[in-house]
Amino acid sequence: MRHLETHARKKLEGLKKLNLLRHPVPNEERHHVSIKRNGKSYIDFSSNDYLALSSNKQVIHAAQKALKRYGNGGCSSRYISGDTKQIRTLEQNIADFKQTEDCILFGSGYLANIGIIPALVRKTDLILMDQLSHASMIDGARLSGADIKFFHHNDITHLTYLLKTMRSNFRNALILTETVFSMDGDLAPLDHIAMISKQYQAWLMTDDAHGFGLLGKGRGGVHAFSPIPDIPIQMGTLSKAIGAYGGYVCSSKIICQFLRNKCRSAIYSTALPPSIIASAITALDLIRNNLVDIQKPIKNADYFCQLTHLPSPQTPIIPILLKTEEKAINAQKILEQEGFLGIAIRPPTVPKGTSRLRLTFSCAHQKTEIKTLASLILNQKII
Ligand SMILES: *Cc1c(COP(=O)(O)O)cnc(C)c1O
Repeated sequence: MRHLETHARKKLEGLKKLNLLRHPVPNEERHHVSIKRNGKSYIDFSSNDYLALSSNKQVIHAAQKALKRYGNGGCSSRYISGDTKQIRTLEQNIADFKQTEDCILFGSGYLANIGIIPALVRKTDLILMDQLSHASMIDGARLSGADIKFFHHNDITHLTYLLKTMRSNFRNALILTETVFSMDGDLAPLDHIAMISKQYQAWLMTDDAHGFGLLGKGRGGVHAFSPIPDIPIQMGTLSKAIGAYGGYVCSSKIICQFLRNKCRSAIYSTALPPSIIASAITALDLIRNNLVDIQKPIKNADYFCQLTHLPSPQTPIIPILLKTEEKAINAQKILEQEGFLGIAIRPPTVPKGTSRLRLTFSCAHQKTEIKTLASLILNQKII
């Protein structure tokens, strides 16, 4: 048996050689897109706080009020004594906004995915998922024990082929995809996927982490289509455009009742803290009442794409494909030297050979900042 320390050291050396070592850098301050780290100021083009709601005054005020009234912690699982009226209000507001019958909150989007998927399918079932699906969906799928097959990214023909050849060998089938792909910024063809799922009697679940608050009048990626596709299980997060924390699933009353009884990550984990719930309620209200410009992040991304001659984007996520890890890390370093944060995304977050610089645009970015970033990227021949 190898000594644990030796084992860890060897593994780390391996990652380092492949340019795959990860080291988070701590921030000292943040306000909107301005960050301070190592005593130096940066403009952040990498966070998912698209609407800058994380530092919104009204949101912060709501969180402070909740802290005074209810205290700091979630105190226990909702199934013990941690359930509150406030949590129910947020669930109801999300369900109303998304025009579904019911909604369940989770501790995070990750916890939602690893709770929902194993509650729906098991060993004798089939999961068909887009090959670029988020790690939390992959982990949920693995936990379920179901047979997992990946279909080529957004490829309806391949998905149909897999359903045609495999569906009849399994009791239940579940299709998983993202509405907006987190590392690519493109949309899934949800209208077609919803149709095929009905045709082959497969259940369908979407992950709207990067659509909620931004697309379809803020209701999410599903609402960007007309007519609105029928998607029975719609998962999302409060950690991105909402600027707070937590995950959710929207579905029918009966499915939610079933999931409330089955999702282990909701049952065996502490309720979200009151300040977070209050801030999410307020952030969602600002979006629902058109008090934030939800078009601005995409407009800013579009301005950047015009300056850099990239195709017009569908979302505020702009990937600049550089293929190798080394090139992606280099690009990140060049940006950092000039006071910009844009993060190198490497395997296993993205497939091998597709390392990239991922830029995200917020409503808080100034035109001059976007212009300077675009010039830097062109002058340094990053594109
Ligand atoms: C960020 C993200 C998650 C996880 O959500 P958290 O609330 O951060 O745990 C799940 N799915 C996708 C597609 C994401 O981008």
